[in-house]
Amino acid sequence: MTNVDVGAGPKSAAAFERARKLMPGGVNSPARAFGAVGGTPLFIERAEGPYLYDIDGRRYIDYIGSWGPMILGHRHPKVVQAIEAAVAKGTSFGAPTEAESELAEQIIDAVPSIEKVRLVNSGTEATMSAIRVARGATGRNKVIKFAGNYHGHVDSLLVAAGSAAATLGVPDSPGVTPGAGQDTIVLDYNDVDAVKNAFAQHPGEIAAVILEPVVGNMGCVPPTMEFLQTLRSETLADHSILIFDEVMTGFRLAFGGAQERFGVVPDMTTLGKIVGGGMPLGAYGGRADIMDNVLPAGKVFQAGTLSGNPVAVAAGSATLRVLEEEPPYEFLDEMGEKLATGLAAAAEKHGVTHQVQQVGSMMTLFFNGAPVTNWPEADRSNRELFGRYFWGLIERGVYMPCSQFEALFFSNLHTEAIIDETLGAVDQVLASL
Ligand code: PMP
Repeated sequence: MTNVDVGAGPKSAAAFERARKLMPGGVNSPARAFGAVGGTPLFIERAEGPYLYDIDGRRYIDYIGSWGPMILGHRHPKVVQAIEAAVAKGTSFGAPTEAESELAEQIIDAVPSIEKVRLVNSGTEATMSAIRVARGATGRNKVIKFAGNYHGHVDSLLVAAGSAAATLGVPDSPGVTPGAGQDTIVLDYNDVDAVKNAFAQHPGEIAAVILEPVVGNMGCVPPTMEFLQTLRSETLADHSILIFDEVMTGFRLAFGGAQERFGVVPDMTTLGKIVGGGMPLGAYGGRADIMDNVLPAGKVFQAGTLSGNPVAVAAGSATLRVLEEEPPYEFLDEMGEKLATGLAAAAEKHGVTHQVQQVGSMMTLFFNGAPVTNWPEADRSNRELFGRYFWGLIERGVYMPCSQFEALFFSNLHTEAIIDETLGAVDQVLASL
């Protein structure tokens, strides 16, 4: 690839050498290895507010926010305090706590579609469980998903998957049996006719439709209202379950997520990232009659030794409390527009083929001449140019997602001055491409 090692310092290089002997690719999650942009990943020492600090002592403006969770920036005092208070009482009990009900109430109050909720440990667990419940509740097998959407590493959903699966060229992973994927119907995002055709071809067979209501995992791709409304009407007419995977968008695009922002209410919702305040926590929920299929209320099995973990619950609860009491959403929208406008202007100025797509505090600068509405269009973006852009920004202290096919995220601590500083760096980098 391009500019190998140009950005990583000697300590990161040594740490990566060591890690590669110990963990596959040197990492515990593939995107972190910088495979798409080539070179050595930066090893992180600590984070504070809107900044990441690597072990070579360099500071970066953070545009990944742990890939979504850190909407309040790193080490928000109220979140840290809640975690410390929880740890003081014990780290895991394997028995119910009142704090779990507190977080459940916060989620139910915030997210329009959720009447009952189950806490799990990751976004993957949330989507895997939601699919199982949808199948159990409907007695049907088929699931519609959209190419370039990523729902975690669930076997049946690792078909035409986005995120690192797309970036690293394995949208259909080895190890997933044909059987695991045979009930998955893959359609193009925003393709209204394809949705109608699928329901016409398989009446009474589709348990669920799952989608990212704004895609982050092929870069930022918004839905059309017609697409969302068609999904809602087709699933209602066929008694199929509409699942919004709001692992990225939940509590980010609005307190009630994309469903609040767009006014389209699904039957089930999956959550992760922000709901755990930077700790491992996910959730799935929905209509009470659907959720009451879950054991022990119903017969669909789903369990977890660490589910509802008190430390994770404390972090999530504290984060949601801050978001409710001091809603950052108008500010995030404003800064999002400022950053998007600035990125487009810089690309324009330097004659770089581009497409900036943004919803609130999620966005992508696509090196692509045409609007990106689905995966085949995203796939036409210039990855080589993206790699140079990425490393150019790293050199200037700006840490963007290391793939063309990931949305950037920022926090309420990314002030106007920080956005301006970022745009200054972007201007220099695009000038040099
Ligand atoms: N769904 C979406 C929309 C995601 O973006 C992700 C992770 N990026 C997941 C599910 C999986 O979540 P996790 O990595 O916590 O398993």
